[in-house]
Amino acid sequence: MSLPTISLESLVSSKSFDKLLTIAKSAGCASSSCGSSAKPDEMDSAVWEKIKDHPCYSEEAHHYFARMHVAVAPACNIQCNYCNRKYDCANESRPGVVSEKLTPDQARRKVIAVANEVPQLSVLGIAGPGDACYDWKKTKATFERVASEIRDIKLCISTNGLALADHVAELADMNVDHVTITINMVDPEIGAKIYPWIFYNHRRHTGIDAARILHKRQMLGLEMLTARGILTKINSVMIPSVNDEHLTEVNKWVKERGAFLHNVMPLISDPAHGTHFGLTGQRGPTALELKTLQDRLEGGAKLMRHCRQCRADAVGLLGEDRGKEFTIDQISDEITYDASKREAYREVVARERGDHVVAKSEAVATVKAAGSSKSLLIAVATKGGGRINEHFGHTTEFQVYEASQRGISFIGHRKVEQYCLGGRGADATLDSIIAALKGIDIVLCAKIGDCPKDQLAEAGIRAMDVYGYGYIETAISALYAAEFGSEPLAATA
Ligand code: SF4
Ligand code: SF4
Repeated sequence: MSLPTISLESLVSSKSFDKLLTIAKSAGCASSSCGSSAKPDEMDSAVWEKIKDHPCYSEEAHHYFARMHVAVAPACNIQCNYCNRKYDCANESRPGVVSEKLTPDQARRKVIAVANEVPQLSVLGIAGPGDACYDWKKTKATFERVASEIRDIKLCISTNGLALADHVAELADMNVDHVTITINMVDPEIGAKIYPWIFYNHRRHTGIDAARILHKRQMLGLEMLTARGILTKINSVMIPSVNDEHLTEVNKWVKERGAFLHNVMPLISDPAHGTHFGLTGQRGPTALELKTLQDRLEGGAKLMRHCRQCRADAVGLLGEDRGKEFTIDQISDEITYDASKREAYREVVARERGDHVVAKSEAVATVKAAGSSKSLLIAVATKGGGRINEHFGHTTEFQVYEASQRGISFIGHRKVEQYCLGGRGADATLDSIIAALKGIDIVLCAKIGDCPKDQLAEAGIRAMDVYGYGYIETAISALYAAEFGSEPLAATA
């Protein structure tokens, strides 16, 4: 039995929700792979169950599932030179964007409001500003309130690690099976350049003494999480000339202690943020420097390359922020949870993902069969669902893929200003987009006008919409085969 083609819009639009329910309830399945998943062969099934709907722990899941952060725990027990607590936590957010701080009761109402309206929601995270383990009572109260009503939501925290070991048992009891620790060093001398002080055991420590304590506590926390089977992601802020070279050592240490993922993020530094690094002119790495380091780390702890350094109150798919739709003043005091949208979405997505997995594996085989040693960098305009489904002029972020003999890999994203506003494109904006796309060979989008297409071509970037609404990997494999292999270029995806 054949299922109708489903666009991402139809999955998430409230107007077509009845259609979505009908599809979800329909018997049978069109996909040869329905019910299958993208579980890598080498991955343990229990681990796959934990990550398969988590947009940060599974690159594939980030096309389908959303996270939200609630800023309930603003107190912090350390000072990082890249943070100014007037702003969001630099570990997990864009500094300079102030969060709405919430009480645990307000957070519960907000999570329910989002879950009722955003069917992709799968994860609730507490990720700054402040430290979720130090401000523990608020973290715990929030998780207990939410988990008692939305039982299948995944709970996630981000911490600097200093107070983590004190709460690992409670985290395990609350079924928190994803924890992020920000670890920027394993050498206290380097740590002293990043952390001016910590507050531990009722007193302030500074310099190398502070960094040594922090390092020991981070390693202890990581080992305790690993022992309990809690998946740990390590965030490291890449700070040129301070810890950039050293992060290979960090990668080695965390891999040995069971970290599941290592996420190297660029330092965001601007004098306007008022941070120590911002005010002293410490620069962040370029996109190329970050990629070069990430490439060097391949083969160590598995890398996360799709992080968006989200706000501490972000809502939605990675790369989008729907936070403004859910400010606390817009949410009723009496709100109750309605699971129907999330349940229907999951059923439909399970089928769509099965088809995507098959298409992706065929695409990777095509690229490998081309037998070329060359690579292609492709920037894709997408709203999610693993498809090329965003207009060039509407996108604010391109997802970047590399096709090479190793296959097709997601390697990052490039943020851009929206080109088309009010039906017209702005030349200055196009110039900045072309600059942001430096090094990209091909742009894939659902639609593009002749003017931006021609200007991109002048800059050596080919842009095309013939693969619009098809799977990303399928289009990339056709292009790669046409460029370097023997297969003719397909007219459509
Ligand atoms: S741990 Fe987070 S909130 Fe605390 S100082 Fe560092 S970046 Fe800021
Ligand atoms: S900051 Fe990175 S790891 Fe955290 S929610 Fe955003 S994408 Fe995921």
